[in-house]
Amino acid sequence: MPIYEYICKKCHDNFALLQSVEAAEKGTKCPRCGSTEVKKLISPFSCSLSPDSGSSAGGSPGFSGGG
Ligand SMILES: [Zn+2]
Repeated sequence: MPIYEYICKKCHDNFALLQSVEAAEKGTKCPRCGSTEVKKLISPFSCSLSPDSGSSAGGSPGFSGGG
């Protein structure tokens, strides 16, 4: 099941819910104030939640001084 992010228009609280597509389409209530005036946010679902951090720094090819 995908995680949907919402933001409440009433209390402006953003929350994430793990729900099915059907449930998301039906309607979502704000867990904080209980308002149904929530807006679904688009989560990139990438470039995040990635514990692996393997950045190998090396010399940049191409860019060479000269002139
Ligand atoms: Zn709310």
